[in-house]
Amino acid sequence: MIKRNPHLAKLNAGYLFPEINRRKREFLKNHPEAQLISLGIGDTTEPIPPYITKKLVKAAADLGTKEGYTGYGHEQGMPALRKKISEQLYNNQFKEEEVFVSDGSKCDIGRLQQMFGAAVTTAVQDPSYPVYVDSAVIIGQTGGYHPETMNYHDITYMPCKPENDFFPDLNQTPRTDLIYFCSPNNPTGAVTTRDQLTELVKFAHKNRSIIIFDAAYAVYIKDPNLPKSIYEIPGSREVAIELGSFSKMIGFTGVRLGWSIIPNELCYEDGTPVNKDWSRLTSTIFNGASNMAQMGGLAALDPEGLVEMQQMVTYYMENASILKQAFADSTYKVYGGVNTPYLWINFGKRRSWDIFEEILQDAHLVTTPGSGFGPAGEGFIRLSSFGHRENILEAANRLKSFLKSR
Ligand code: PLP
Repeated sequence: MIKRNPHLAKLNAGYLFPEINRRKREFLKNHPEAQLISLGIGDTTEPIPPYITKKLVKAAADLGTKEGYTGYGHEQGMPALRKKISEQLYNNQFKEEEVFVSDGSKCDIGRLQQMFGAAVTTAVQDPSYPVYVDSAVIIGQTGGYHPETMNYHDITYMPCKPENDFFPDLNQTPRTDLIYFCSPNNPTGAVTTRDQLTELVKFAHKNRSIIIFDAAYAVYIKDPNLPKSIYEIPGSREVAIELGSFSKMIGFTGVRLGWSIIPNELCYEDGTPVNKDWSRLTSTIFNGASNMAQMGGLAALDPEGLVEMQQMVTYYMENASILKQAFADSTYKVYGGVNTPYLWINFGKRRSWDIFEEILQDAHLVTTPGSGFGPAGEGFIRLSSFGHRENILEAANRLKSFLKSR
């Protein structure tokens, strides 16, 4: 018998989404007739559009031919895709060697933890995407979990609430080695302004910290004044890694494709470029993203693919405004849903899991309890706009009735 990894044993009772599914299954056992609609897990629902699908099909068919077959590729990604990501999404700011293609951001976050190791200190926005904290726990960066405060020792939680415009008070934030920062934010829907991001970059310079900037929802920003990338901020190349994902951009949640940018200027204290270690780690424990997925990524960045991408974003953002409209007559304050596919609803002093249960029982809707994203999420519920239009319209009607009955 071998001993269980004590860090895994420290993980808080269950990852948020499996717990939501457990409650959903339980509800359906007791109400088998219920027509549940999920506004919970942020998974995409709409088919991959035709131009990109055609290229994916061709990539698969080519693998079945002698001429078209390819095996292991470059661990860091197809050179053509690395180049195209820089050209189409970053105004050609990065050399091919600074762009790393992957099988998605979640996997990159896990591998980044492995690269930085257990000795680093970490700050996260509170609330935030749970993977930042959980992957830090698994690698052994944290002490135990404290159910009464809903946090882990040794993680710095930066409260992001309506009172501070969902941007942390950096004067009150202690120095950490790493700062995970997500904008547009999952779950609050907040998009960091240029001034706020400039403040964050200065803070990282002052503390010699590294920002891991998660831009998984950047394509949803329609306000041209809001930064889509941390690299729009001067001085960011020396302090920031950016993570990108094709998941919410073009429905590749199942295809699996993402990227990371690690500029040559980002170095450790001994002068070693961080991307040297990232490249080494990628070659050692990751054999590169699927060749078919990468062909899909190339197609998504073609002019035809970019049009399809915009159409998909518009569809989901129309869903967001339909859901937001459902709250028009209610007194609950709704955040997000404008430059981001998530709505973040403040139910005041109520507990998130209680609201979750009430909406599940009374409106037959699955939502996500805000407290699952961190202690400052207590009292909030997150709604996702990823869904078929007919379901979103029905969900909006049910929400209106639910809110009227309160
Ligand atoms: N980052 C954030 C903020 C997310 O919300 C998600 C997925 O929901 C991811 C990363 C994961 O993306 P991927 O599908 O590329 O692993």
